Amino acid sequence: MNAFWTEADTAPPALEASRARAPVASREALERAAHEAHKLEKRLCRQVGQAIMDYHMIEEGDRVMVCVSGGKDSYGMLDILLKMQQRAPVSFELIAVNLDQKQPGFPDHILPAYLEQLGVPFHIETQDTYSIVKKVIPEGKTMCSLCSRLRRGILYRVADELKATKIALGHHRDDMLQTFFLNMFFGGKLKGMPPKLVSDDGGHVVIRPLANVAEKDLVRWAEHREFPIIPCTLCGSQENLQRKQIGNMLRDWEKQYPGRIESMFTALQNVVPSHLMDTKLHDFEAVRTTGVAEPDGDTAFDLESFPIPTVGGLPMRIL
Ligand code: SF4
Repeated sequence: MNAFWTEADTAPPALEASRARAPVASREALERAAHEAHKLEKRLCRQVGQAIMDYHMIEEGDRVMVCVSGGKDSYGMLDILLKMQQRAPVSFELIAVNLDQKQPGFPDHILPAYLEQLGVPFHIETQDTYSIVKKVIPEGKTMCSLCSRLRRGILYRVADELKATKIALGHHRDDMLQTFFLNMFFGGKLKGMPPKLVSDDGGHVVIRPLANVAEKDLVRWAEHREFPIIPCTLCGSQENLQRKQIGNMLRDWEKQYPGRIESMFTALQNVVPSHLMDTKLHDFEAVRTTGVAEPDGDTAFDLESFPIPTVGGLPMRIL
């Protein structure tokens, strides 16, 4: 692995002839929009490249099965991975996979047409899990747990059949933070969503190349690229209420205290087990005096204090 993942630049888009003929004011707006899109593309590539490098997600000869649902995140993931494939220091294959669960109204022509036009190898797996779930789960009860269990099993089988060495999922930074808070608030655990893991059946390596990417950037990228988004409400199931609440909480925090999300995300990569309380992670029994003063060590008697962030030179209200 080396820095090529993140170093290579993308060329700024050329202004099309038709744009060049536009009136000056709208031409400037178009140029500005093109410049912003170029910046966004560079950022997405850099963040995906960094995640691939930091967590050793993709290696020489990998065959990566990219799970595509028709939502903005998985479209964005595939799009950026295709760009990374051109510049990466290792050679790897991508194969896009969509599972058509036969939800009522699922427009099954959209993804094949899009993927064909993209020129990426793809496979559409059709399995009517919707009918199974409807039959088994009583009316009004949430169907997600059975539905996602069935989906997982099918995708593992498809990965085997396609001889995929990695399965890529489109979860992003905000999904990871939400999971962290869900686990803390409702599960009593300090546990997030790993960027790379072994699947529950023990047979697959799952990667999350969007681990460093903010959801708002994926929204903007989807608009810019005009992905043919397929609605995610077709099954009629209720959205996960707790996840929605946590998402709103995080968005409110970010609005009130800009930079907080960034800081929390950095914290996930900066864990100090000796300053938590898990006896499995730190040997408290072995704590002994060293007789050596450490200027940066714990003062123990005082509570830690932090610099107050400022907005426009004035101290920000932090609570
Ligand atoms: S929202 Fe619908 S498609 Fe998604 S897991 Fe739940 S039941 Fe399945």
